[in-house]
Amino acid sequence: MTVVDVAVVGGGIVGCAVARELSGRHLSVALLEARGDIGDVTSKANTAILHTGFDATPGTLESRLVRRGYDLLSAYAVPAGIPVERVGAVLVAWDDEQLATLPTLLAKAVANGYERGELIDVDEVYRRIPHLGAGALGGLVIPDESIVCSWTSALAFATEAVQRGAALMLRHRVTGIDVGAERTVLRTDRGEVTARWVVNAAGLGADVLDRMLGHDRFTVVPRRGELIVFDKLARPLVEHIVLPVPTARGKGVLVSPTIYGNVMLGPTSENIEDRTDTATTAVGLDLLLDKGRILMPRLLEEEVTATYAGLRAATEHDDYVVEVDADQRYLLLGGIRSTGLTASMALAEHVVELLAASGVGVEPRDGLPATPRMPNIGEAFLRPYADAERIAVDPEYGRLVCFCERVTRGEVRDALASSVPPSDVDGLRRRTRALMGRCQGFYCGAEVTRLLEESTGEGAS
Ligand SMILES: Cc1cc2nc3c(=O)[nH]c(=O)nc-3n(C[C@H](O)[C@H](O)[C@H](O)COP(=O)(O)OP(=O)(O)OC[C@H]3O[C@@H](n4cnc5c(N)ncnc54)[C@H](O)[C@@H]3O)c2cc1C
Repeated sequence: MTVVDVAVVGGGIVGCAVARELSGRHLSVALLEARGDIGDVTSKANTAILHTGFDATPGTLESRLVRRGYDLLSAYAVPAGIPVERVGAVLVAWDDEQLATLPTLLAKAVANGYERGELIDVDEVYRRIPHLGAGALGGLVIPDESIVCSWTSALAFATEAVQRGAALMLRHRVTGIDVGAERTVLRTDRGEVTARWVVNAAGLGADVLDRMLGHDRFTVVPRRGELIVFDKLARPLVEHIVLPVPTARGKGVLVSPTIYGNVMLGPTSENIEDRTDTATTAVGLDLLLDKGRILMPRLLEEEVTATYAGLRAATEHDDYVVEVDADQRYLLLGGIRSTGLTASMALAEHVVELLAASGVGVEPRDGLPATPRMPNIGEAFLRPYADAERIAVDPEYGRLVCFCERVTRGEVRDALASSVPPSDVDGLRRRTRALMGRCQGFYCGAEVTRLLEESTGEGAS
């Protein structure tokens, strides 16, 4: 029986970041994920903003880890080739009360360690966002808010973890846990995994796992966020992230460029019961269109490419729920709700600190492989179809398979042969952008599916 030092449960962006970090130490690591791919739940359906943390509640763990995570992910993105665009955000006040709140938000940003915010008058607001709807009164600029590819981020972490020797155990849903004196047995739907320590990064399922270990300290309430993605022709309308003044319910509905060259409107914020209900709704989309009409009426004249929804793992607590139980050799990362993409690397760093404080040896290992260079799927950076030198060396980068998104056969081939290959067409989409364009796979769906089936030797789902 193999015993790993640490079993990380949950292959979302947080679990992948933790597995990457721990596998760089003198520790054997297994990453257990219920689904057939990493990053396949909340980490694939968010607004993909790398937050400065300017509006977090000062003094919270979330505030600290979002600030730190911003710096860590910004730095890691460079060698890993994760697309990031520092487009900046403008927080817009639409009435006198909101206008009066802006200086308070600026002070809050400073309290959160972010000092580059700037109040601007209404003329400057319209200079920066010419297509903004009428009626704005003033704004607060946060120049460092950025857009990022959340898919590539999670994939880079998982890839590096695997290349460092971590065991990626997909389709391993943990269904029961037995804590022994020195070892913990995790029962999964594919047999048992034995570990000394367990890290719970199970997102929407973190409270269920926590209860398996005998705790009763929080309940996840899925908070659904629906979004509308507009066609690439809308992109020139929106140069910056346009934010509303946040409320107690969350950050509110924003308009933002996406890293793939589209424009996004959303998300809504609605507590629901079903932890799997990522359907968009007529009510949610109507609400977004109503907000969009005020925020940027011109945007609504553009074509809609797609809609989607994600579920934030909200809890009854106002902060992340991160706790260690040294007796059980168990570490909980719960309630990582609307900022987990940004905070992921800082959460991983925090895990190392907490394990060290519990007496686990976490010394870094020498001779680690270089950070993997991920394929670029960001619109603002050179992509294979436009790279003449690359095509001259390998003509497969000049053969388009998805015409809307200009994805080449070379990219599909590389994704299928990668350290963490996709298991279905949706996974291939997140690695290459195939099928996510304006035709939504109408033209290339059959061909992309064929390439996937050829590679996996089975029918794709
Ligand atoms: C609409 C929306 C907008 C957002 N916008 C942003 C943003 O702009 N910036 C930002 O930083 N954050 C944002 N977030 C938050 C961010 O997406 C999440 O905080 C982050 O993805 C959480 O990652 P995770 O790894 O904790 O959870 P998940 O991605 O949900 O991963 C948890 C994994 O655990 C697995 N799992 C669960 N139970 C088990 C089990 N028993 N056994 C094995 N595996 C299990 C699941 O299958 C899943 O893959 C947003 C979220 C939403 C919904």
